[in-house]
Amino acid sequence: MTPDLDARTKDFGREIFARLDRQGPVLFTRPWLEDKLMGLGMHDPALKVQLFRFVDTLPYLKEDTEVSRHLREYLGEAGDQLPRWVRRGMAWIPQRGLLSQLLAWQARSNAERMARKFIAGSNVAEAVQAVWRMRTRRLAFTIDLLGEATITEAEADHVQKQYLDLIRGLTHEVNAWPEEPIIDRDDRGPLPRVNVSVKLSALYSQFDPIDPEGTSRAVRRRLRPILALAKQTGAFVNFDMEQYSFKDTTLRIFREILTEPEFRDWPHVGIAIQAYLTDTEADLHQLLDWVKYERRCPVWIRLVKGAYWDYETVLAAQHGWPVPVFTQKWQSDANFEKLTEFLLANVEWLVPAFGSHNIRSIAHAMAVAEQLQVPPRRFEFQMLYGMADPIKEAIQSLGYRVRIYTPYGQLLPGMAYLVRRLLENSSNDSFLRQGFAEGLSEEVLLRNPCDLSLLLRPQPIEKPPMLATNGQTVTSPTSPKAPPDEHFQNEPLSDFSRATNRDQMAAALREVRSQFGRTYPVVIDNQSQPVAKTLDSLNPSRISERVGTVAVATVEQANAAVASCLRAFDAWRDTPVEERAAFLKRVAQQFRRRRFELAAWICLETGKPWRESDADVAEAIDFCEYYAIEMQKLGRPQHRDVPGEDNRYFYEPRGVAVVIAPWNFPLAILTGMTTAALVTGNTVVMKPAEQSAIVGAKLMECLQAAGLPPGVANFVPGVGEEIGPTLVQHPDVALIAFTGSLKVALMINEQAAKTPGGQNFVKKVIAEMGGKNAIIVDDDADLDEAIKGVVDSAFGYAGQKCSAGSRAIVLSGIYEQFLNRLVEATKSLTVAPADEPGCSVGPVIDAEARDRILKMIDIGRREARLVYQTDVGALATQGYFVGPTIFADVPETATIAQEEIFGPVLSVMRAQDLDDALRIANGVKYALTGACFSRSPTNLEKVKRKFRVGNLYINRKCTGALVDRQPFGGFKLSGIGSKAGGPDYLLQFLVPRTVTENQMRRGFAPEPDAVA
Ligand SMILES: Cc1cc2nc3c(=O)[nH]c(=O)nc-3n(C[C@H](O)[C@H](O)[C@H](O)COP(=O)(O)OP(=O)(O)OC[C@H]3O[C@@H](n4cnc5c(N)ncnc54)[C@H](O)[C@@H]3O)c2cc1C
Repeated sequence: MTPDLDARTKDFGREIFARLDRQGPVLFTRPWLEDKLMGLGMHDPALKVQLFRFVDTLPYLKEDTEVSRHLREYLGEAGDQLPRWVRRGMAWIPQRGLLSQLLAWQARSNAERMARKFIAGSNVAEAVQAVWRMRTRRLAFTIDLLGEATITEAEADHVQKQYLDLIRGLTHEVNAWPEEPIIDRDDRGPLPRVNVSVKLSALYSQFDPIDPEGTSRAVRRRLRPILALAKQTGAFVNFDMEQYSFKDTTLRIFREILTEPEFRDWPHVGIAIQAYLTDTEADLHQLLDWVKYERRCPVWIRLVKGAYWDYETVLAAQHGWPVPVFTQKWQSDANFEKLTEFLLANVEWLVPAFGSHNIRSIAHAMAVAEQLQVPPRRFEFQMLYGMADPIKEAIQSLGYRVRIYTPYGQLLPGMAYLVRRLLENSSNDSFLRQGFAEGLSEEVLLRNPCDLSLLLRPQPIEKPPMLATNGQTVTSPTSPKAPPDEHFQNEPLSDFSRATNRDQMAAALREVRSQFGRTYPVVIDNQSQPVAKTLDSLNPSRISERVGTVAVATVEQANAAVASCLRAFDAWRDTPVEERAAFLKRVAQQFRRRRFELAAWICLETGKPWRESDADVAEAIDFCEYYAIEMQKLGRPQHRDVPGEDNRYFYEPRGVAVVIAPWNFPLAILTGMTTAALVTGNTVVMKPAEQSAIVGAKLMECLQAAGLPPGVANFVPGVGEEIGPTLVQHPDVALIAFTGSLKVALMINEQAAKTPGGQNFVKKVIAEMGGKNAIIVDDDADLDEAIKGVVDSAFGYAGQKCSAGSRAIVLSGIYEQFLNRLVEATKSLTVAPADEPGCSVGPVIDAEARDRILKMIDIGRREARLVYQTDVGALATQGYFVGPTIFADVPETATIAQEEIFGPVLSVMRAQDLDDALRIANGVKYALTGACFSRSPTNLEKVKRKFRVGNLYINRKCTGALVDRQPFGGFKLSGIGSKAGGPDYLLQFLVPRTVTENQMRRGFAPEPDAVA
């Protein structure tokens, strides 16, 4: 920036400040601090969090006593972190009676008053009144419709209708008002008076960047009538920008629909662009090229910094993805200025609307426009309703057009918007807070953000390992690997909002399809065995497709595999732990190298949708790396030496392990059990499920490519009933690791318990069995999240996970509301072949599974009320599809409430209160996973104590455990043994030994250090 420009920026800034009264109620429309909340929250982060949570929950609380209970609980949760006066005051919060009613009334009316500061009204008529009031102050408007998250197609239809009504209603009123040239015209002519802002994700319940094409199609279908009406009535439509993962799809839809013949010559459209994203500069260049060379008609760009900064940084950290936003405030400010210059230089094509309350950002735009001789009314400034009114007036008084982003809607959905605004304004970095609550000097506030870069030391957010900056997983086999004590980190899942990942997955599916029809043999001693009998492996999404043919191992081959393992055992046991760990890390590298290819095999052989197939490979990588690190820890002998006596405690492997894996996590579980056995020094007979034997063969390929010594793992696909008993009862087999059904697990356990003559050990059985997992929905739960959580848990991978949530236990007070939305959300799911990116529910694994599930549905019809079942139509003959099915009012003793179904069937059950819900949840023979959605800290504490399952999740779905973060496994009839991906898992594959050596010779003993 030239010194001149910076000086002019400061001139403009000072001019704006001169027109403000900084001592007055600048920040908000009405004397904000009288509410105290904001002022208190700003100085006490713990209090701020708890109060915001309380405000967020408030609209859901029906009873007065509930309001005081929640206030008490939220404040109580922060405990010692709260200021002393708040802690003392808590004792005075009334629990019931008149005072409690008074408190509830006060809390509600305060929250409502607060919300009304940011939300213009709850219906069109109120919104029109607000718009009229603004017009009398010569402020233009853009109206935004607040709503709950759109999780059903019915809700998306309703949103569309609301926009149509809104445009009609506003046009009717607003166009009849007398003209106000300062806002109704720019320097060239009239402007649309009616201006609406649209969030695209509200127009499609399955808005998902993994399927930009399908998402765009569905959104455009609902958007077209809105744009057509706007065009016809002379209104303006702006597309809001939401979270980063939606950005590319939003831009795509914007371009696609505005290139359609009906809209390509229509200039009254715009899109919000976020300066806090590092990608944005490139996006703007692309938009310019598109507008200039393809569309040839300008669009508006609302330049904002971005409203999801906290969300984006937390999400990136959780997933191990690159952070898409700048991490220091001055960088966002500086980028805003850079993009301001770009827009004003291209104002003929990209007409800017600067959405900011930051006087420096605003003044800079004024100075650039002046320098480029862009007339002040060619562009505009935009600000939020209820914020910084004097700044709006100051700018307007300087001759610029100011438009107010004016949300309207019901209080309940409005709370989320309110909390976003509160968070934004109370953040340390907020301009409004610094300028008006903290009273920083004008010179500081008007500083060039780039100057700050010199003052502040950079604090880069650490880039997660194994990631390239483009978000792709690094596949370099030479990446440095974890030294022994390095902290384990989960392999990031592929971010399918990125085109490069989608393209690679699509290419991998094509490549894998071209390899269909091959034959996969039994492999013993690293040698392929002659193939006699075979099984075809079909694509469950399209049964006309034969994925390949797999050899069926004979009993002789099973015996040969055990013999080979036995031969290899001694050498493998004596291989140093570091070498075995290094082998696992090489296997992980093979998986990384073949990441999308393996995901494609999983998708096509087992009918797993893209994201879940990718997660299967990521989990397999995690198992390798986690167990490698864990074994290196266990491999160090423990010493308990005393003078003259050396005591060493260490582990050694058990011997030959048989691994029998299921088809539902065809790579991850087979890899987990196999690598645990291998890294601990056992040799392995690997038996994949019949339905996923090709993925098993791929694992064998990876083991071999990583340098598997002959016989250390042998690949024995085949029919469980034929070779299972041979393997389990074999006298040379020391350990069986099994994951699968309860029935088979118990049978294996029984068979393995027999110790025939000649077998000098008792076999060890590790078994992960089923679940009948429940999700409790408390009556103050956030329904958007609870429904999404239940739907994902119940119908993700067509319910074929042992962790799947197959019972929703809902408290009476919220039951009907929950059920209605649940049914609508389920109706909105896309049942499709798993290889289609837009698939939300794919097929079940085979005909036998389909028939078994359908039989359970028949039983359910007799036991409970069938409220919904998706008709799968022609898919029924194309593949093994069962439509998501919901039963309501299911008695707790019903078969469908007690037995594992392993399909997309959900039982919804009513509970009188939380204790009742817990009793029902625990009242099954399994104890694997569970979840609870609640916003009551006390209830959640109770749930944590009393909901007895292996993996309990609070306010999230009950599937998707990650290695190390959520070690996985249950008890009761859900499992024998400790959790996979957890610190105790490997111990099961080992036997501990102690060696004690007497070092004393005739009264002389070496120093302990010398022998340690
Ligand atoms: C009319 C209008 C429409 C809007 N529409 C959208 C929209 O469609 N989509 C959307 O996302 N937002 C939208 N916003 C919200 C807007 O992004 C925020 O109000 C805005 O970021 C606040 O910026 P400011 O310039 O007023 O304040 P400032 O206080 O100068 O900036 C605050 C912003 O800086 C950024 N920031 C904060 N901390 C850091 C940090 N450590 N590192 C880097 N950056 C940081 C964040 O973006 C934060 O919001 C809109 C705002 C307006 C006024």
